[in-house]
Amino acid sequence: MTPLADILAARIRGGGPISLAEYMEVCLLHPAHGYYATRDPFGAAGDFTTAPEISQMFGELCGLALAQAWLDQGAPAPFTLAEPGPGRGTLMADMLRAIRVAPRMADAAEVTLIEASPHLRALQRDRLGQVRHVETIEELSHRPLFLMANEFFDALPIRQFQRVSDGWAERVVGLEGDRLVMGLAPPVGLPRAGSEGEIYEVCPSAPAIIEVIAGRIAAHGGAAIIADYGGWNGTGDTFQALRGHAFDDPLAHPGEADLTAHVDFAPLAAAALRAGAVASCPVHQGDWLRAMGIETRASRLAAAGDHGAMAALHRLTHADEMGHLFKMLAIWPRDTPAVPGFTALNDDANHA
Ligand code: SAH
Repeated sequence: MTPLADILAARIRGGGPISLAEYMEVCLLHPAHGYYATRDPFGAAGDFTTAPEISQMFGELCGLALAQAWLDQGAPAPFTLAEPGPGRGTLMADMLRAIRVAPRMADAAEVTLIEASPHLRALQRDRLGQVRHVETIEELSHRPLFLMANEFFDALPIRQFQRVSDGWAERVVGLEGDRLVMGLAPPVGLPRAGSEGEIYEVCPSAPAIIEVIAGRIAAHGGAAIIADYGGWNGTGDTFQALRGHAFDDPLAHPGEADLTAHVDFAPLAAAALRAGAVASCPVHQGDWLRAMGIETRASRLAAAGDHGAMAALHRLTHADEMGHLFKMLAIWPRDTPAVPGFTALNDDANHA
């Protein structure tokens, strides 16, 4: 039993089964024993590796795309350069280096990191020096906003409902003796069709966060790029645990495994449109990186002696690696050029 398993068991004994959202939030963010509160999970020694940790090329190309969007919008200064869920700060460090191609951009940027974990906040300060840290997206300044998020939305708590004969029953975490087990709450009505046994998964906070980001961009200018694994109008159970680079039972090691779910990009795009901004079509990460010139960059790095560059290129772009599973979505204001590498979802939806 992990310390968190005891804490969760006590909570369930006292108040009854808890939703997956509550389970996920406690496991990831509990101040003493939460997964992100206690460790640096990235890299070979950790539980998973992310695109910016694989290669500097990822952050550089994201930085270049935001730099072009900044120039296209008349180089507004000052502006906020934000990243929710910055992990080790690697992506932001690579972006800050890349945006130096645009004169005065780095000086005009107020770097703002949205990070829930005090442990990771300290790591990010070590890496990036003085940056502004906030805990929620609402705290972002009201000024032009250029934002990059990688593998942030997959960490947000999800809820799942299973179709039963008389409605939708929420999947909850309960107890069998001392063991955490998955169960079903009494069914409720949801305005959704579905065949018996089907799982409906929803991440309620994700569209709410996008509405704030897109609202700032629509009002003050800016652009956002969201990268994550997932799909479009995803259905079904994608809740998963990773521990030591291997899949784990999500209930087996609370606080010691990374818990995520695939990101459904369709509700994110819809939220951006509701907020008055333009949303892009989702693109495969591999296609976007190639459109941005990653092959040329990898050859240059390899020629300069970076022995990992070609392997990193393969890992980031190949369809059997991260190239297809990972999608990217961009948001920008109406009546400004598209963020490089993206096309608007469709004009009817964007101007409705
Ligand atoms: N973007 C980084 C790390 C992704 S891991 C990379 O690509 O390497 C997820 C990050 O989101 C961690 O920094 C984690 O602490 C943070 N996080 C998770 N839930 C959060 C929340 N609700 N609010 C703010 N940050 C959160």
